[in-house]
Amino acid sequence: MSFPLNFLEHIELASLTTLGIGGPARYFINADSENTVVEAIRDARDRNIPVFILGGGSNLLMADAGFPGVVIKIGLAGLEWEESGGGMLVGAGAGEDWDRLVRLCVERDLAGIECLSGIPGSVGGTPVQNVGAYGQEVSDVIVSLRAYDRETDSIVELSRDDCSFTYRTSLFNSTAKNRYVVLNVTYALTKGGEPAIRYAELKQAFEGRLETPSLAEVRSVVRQIRAGKAMLLTPGDPDCRSAGSFFKNPIMTEDQFNALEAAAGERAPRYPAAPGKVKTAAAWLIERAGFPKGYAMGPVGLSSRHTLALVNKGGATADDLLRLAREIRARVEGRFGVKLVPEPVFVGFGEDLISEFFGYN
Ligand SMILES: Cc1cc2nc3c(=O)[nH]c(=O)nc-3n(C[C@H](O)[C@H](O)[C@H](O)COP(=O)(O)OP(=O)(O)OC[C@H]3O[C@@H](n4cnc5c(N)ncnc54)[C@H](O)[C@@H]3O)c2cc1C
Repeated sequence: MSFPLNFLEHIELASLTTLGIGGPARYFINADSENTVVEAIRDARDRNIPVFILGGGSNLLMADAGFPGVVIKIGLAGLEWEESGGGMLVGAGAGEDWDRLVRLCVERDLAGIECLSGIPGSVGGTPVQNVGAYGQEVSDVIVSLRAYDRETDSIVELSRDDCSFTYRTSLFNSTAKNRYVVLNVTYALTKGGEPAIRYAELKQAFEGRLETPSLAEVRSVVRQIRAGKAMLLTPGDPDCRSAGSFFKNPIMTEDQFNALEAAAGERAPRYPAAPGKVKTAAAWLIERAGFPKGYAMGPVGLSSRHTLALVNKGGATADDLLRLAREIRARVEGRFGVKLVPEPVFVGFGEDLISEFFGYN
């Protein structure tokens, strides 16, 4: 089969993911213009070949068999800065590195994303699971985004409300999965705004300080906290070969939470969630179910610094990782009656496996 665009063939994908796992892409293209994104998708559609949109590969579990269609790596660059009232509208190409954008904004004294420093991946990946950390979520500052709508074959502008953001969820990973390709995101940041110090670890770090910390100080503390948990990608650190948190923090009703505490025989961590709901800590459940930090199972294990990160200790396959994930889920469910849902996107797997891990979601 030949393509008018410059599709590469049989491209190894493991090295394009932070887990370092997965087989090859049958076809692959690096899309550095909106036109290439659109043409590549039209081409694939005409030939009835599946498409996968790849950002920074930091939230993926790629199957050992790889992906049988076209992987389009989003390489759209460009930043635009537009003064707006007391703030700044920052437009960023979907292929821009997210962490670099955070640094540039903090350097310009723009508040709103300082706590999201150190999250790997691309700008285009941020709205997909509404990335969040240390008290901020990207949905707090996204005003709109530009996307290619595969259903209508047109480029559209979506407002924040259109995106249906909730915890680790958006239109893009729920009701309209695979429909949109994010091309550009606009964030509204506050010039000279105060940093968000809502999270307990951040509050603790600045305890006793009389003057308000600067955005740069908050960013730096967030990075230190992340580095301590191997949640900051650091070359050579084996605990970093992960997809970040492998399981979402479970959200449940009060009754379910009470049942969980009864099963645990002790108080469980609880955080605010949507009205009438409680969020608890997946890491706490996993530890109490008998998986300490550093737990190993052949070439995979838990990070020695963060219970929620499943790591490839070297030479692991997706099957190895899934075996560990299954064992953790089974023991957590057996002990607490809570089903853990994975956070990373599973790519190239059959429907049975997807429904095993996500079916009840
Ligand atoms: C060490 C580590 C720490 C992390 N910490 C956090 C954290 O604190 N908080 C948090 O929320 N996440 C965290 N993550 C997860 C991850 O970094 C984020 O989810 C990130 O936004 C994923 O972006 P990406 O570009 O790497 O997406 P990818 O992994 O490439 O893709 C993820 C999903 O997004 C889709 N996608 C990517 N780009 C586009 C686009 N332009 N248009 C449409 N769909 C697209 C893909 O198709 C896929 O479905 C962490 C990951 C690691 C490895």
